Amino acid sequence: MMRYYSTKNKNKPYSLKEAVIMGLPEDNGLFMPEMIPGLSAEFISSLPGKSLVDIAGHIATKWFGHDVPEGVLLQMVMDAFPFDTPLVRLDNQTQVLELFHGPTLAFKDVGARFMARLMSWMVRGSNRKLTILVATSGDTGSAVASGFFGVENINVVILYPSGKVSESQEKQLTTWGGNITALEVSGTFDDCQRLVKEAFLDEQLRHSFDLTSANSINIARLVPQSFYYFRAVAQLDQGTSPCCFVVPSGNFGNLTAGIFAKRMGLPVEKFIAATNSNDVVPAYLLNGVFKARSSVSTISNAMDVGNPSNFWRMMELYHESLESMRKEISGVTVSETETRNAMHECFDRFGYVIDPHGAVGYHSWQMEKRHHPSATGIILETAHPSKFSNVVTETLGLIPEMPERLAAMVTKTKSSVQISADLVALKEYLNAQ
Ligand SMILES: *Cc1c(COP(=O)(O)O)cnc(C)c1O
Repeated sequence: MMRYYSTKNKNKPYSLKEAVIMGLPEDNGLFMPEMIPGLSAEFISSLPGKSLVDIAGHIATKWFGHDVPEGVLLQMVMDAFPFDTPLVRLDNQTQVLELFHGPTLAFKDVGARFMARLMSWMVRGSNRKLTILVATSGDTGSAVASGFFGVENINVVILYPSGKVSESQEKQLTTWGGNITALEVSGTFDDCQRLVKEAFLDEQLRHSFDLTSANSINIARLVPQSFYYFRAVAQLDQGTSPCCFVVPSGNFGNLTAGIFAKRMGLPVEKFIAATNSNDVVPAYLLNGVFKARSSVSTISNAMDVGNPSNFWRMMELYHESLESMRKEISGVTVSETETRNAMHECFDRFGYVIDPHGAVGYHSWQMEKRHHPSATGIILETAHPSKFSNVVTETLGLIPEMPERLAAMVTKTKSSVQISADLVALKEYLNAQ
């Protein structure tokens, strides 16, 4: 059986179920696995052509096979991933991994859909009712809502920053009804994240509710995000040079999952941590000082995070060694102008419409690729451009085609509960339920 422990206390082990249902340990650290399972060399060399579901089934069994029957896990990954994560070639040195083919058009569907199935399996047949609190800068909330919509014994409460998400993102948060509620917080994403953390530490709420989290701080979302790193390599031509993964980052869950993939045995030359001006991690890589700050708004708003929680998991994975982290990760900060120029260049050169988050990755690879002349850069395209159609239209002068599943939500009527950015307001809302 695999055990989990808090980044703040190695001496107290937790089971998978405890780690997943609690979301966060009581000491305000983050759950980490006691070890990362290794995959055999045979598995790695048999990757070419393997499907996302095949890969996910194999890796999920390695991680969770002692806690969940293998047949259940295989069914879970089949239900969770009815879509692929295709790799699109731009040129010899550049590929785009499209992670937006899930129901809410962002990569967060991958982690959220798996987590929803795992949690609902864990609480099946019990009379407990779980309340999932999720802070979102836009895409997490909708992926979690979509994953959990209609799941028995689970309520989802989404906290999102008022006026700081795009219109179509907001529709994807606020039009569900049923077991999903959207709280519109007058504040920033960091306020939402802080409120969730405070709620977990609040004695009265702990006592009255079975609270859990669905942010990328939940281990059940992080592990499945490693699946598509393997799926990317499975789509490269055999004998392709080593790859660099370019990860547009905010809370650094996606990148942390990449490090898991590497530790499991995936060959990776480098990770490029690509951020907008909310660049506390690139700044750390540059000068060795981690300084959280308030987030600033950008056109890649899902990455507007001033205090990325998964940084502490990264520190743990590199045993707090700046030098080890630097060997595997380079950081790049991308300005608004550079982001827009990247969207232009990507469209003009390749006819490829990239969303502002992917564009932060695109620019970062243009900056970094000279250091990796024989590597293939794989840019993680984290959202479909139509999710950010205002920015795309403003920048490229075209309207990105909107997939049917998003178009259907955009026409619905928004329904949210407005609260101020303090714990008292959140408690008032929850206790009234
Ligand atoms: C959440 C999100 C990110 C940032 O991912 P992290 O795991 O928080 O680093 C990047 N792009 C999009 C579109 C997102 O929704």
